[in-house]
Amino acid sequence: MVRLVFLGPPGAGKGTQASLIAGFYQVPHISTGDILRTNVAQRSALGWQAKEYIDKGDLVPDQLIIDMVEERLEKPDALHGWVLDGFPRNVGQAKFIEQLLSTNQNANDIQGEKTQKNNSLIVINLQVPDQVLVSRLLSRGRPDDNEQTIQHRLQVHHQQTEPLIEFYKERQQLITIDGNHSVEAVTNSLKQAVNQSC
Ligand code: AMP
Repeated sequence: MVRLVFLGPPGAGKGTQASLIAGFYQVPHISTGDILRTNVAQRSALGWQAKEYIDKGDLVPDQLIIDMVEERLEKPDALHGWVLDGFPRNVGQAKFIEQLLSTNQNANDIQGEKTQKNNSLIVINLQVPDQVLVSRLLSRGRPDDNEQTIQHRLQVHHQQTEPLIEFYKERQQLITIDGNHSVEAVTNSLKQAVNQSC
């Protein structure tokens, strides 16, 4: 069972690598950014609420995101593992995942099921220097990929998401991967790291 989350700044290659790794381990790739963008395109209530935050490059409020992720993780395809891309983005969201996994662990213990090694989460910290990120993002062409929003997203990342590096280091769940290589080279390093952890 693979349960993996990707940390790493915007433009680090989380989406590309998460999709490849999810395909390889045959688990769903769950991107909170993609789900939000679908909601915006469909003009759902969630989409309306999230749009102003996405356009500015701010984080969408935790309760909206956590409800959305909880609903997604309850779907049958996510019962045997998942790769989360873009979640958690702050300590509150990380605590939600921790709580969710410990609840699952308790349920499995009661049923006497054999579970993944300490039911743990694998956390990938994909590292890429800031100047490489900006040029990658500018060439991507998403509506929130303009210079001003990019700078703001990087700042939000440094302030709110980077503290998760310490959070997961303390829990010995963090694997740091150098993301400043070809897609193939990064995928290979990731597979090796994941194989060693589960
Ligand atoms: P991404 O596609 O991961 O770059 O996300 C695009 C935008 O969606 C972000 O700039 C946020 O506005 C929003 N978003 C995605 N994931 C989250 C999350 N876990 N928490 C809050 N906002 C999020």
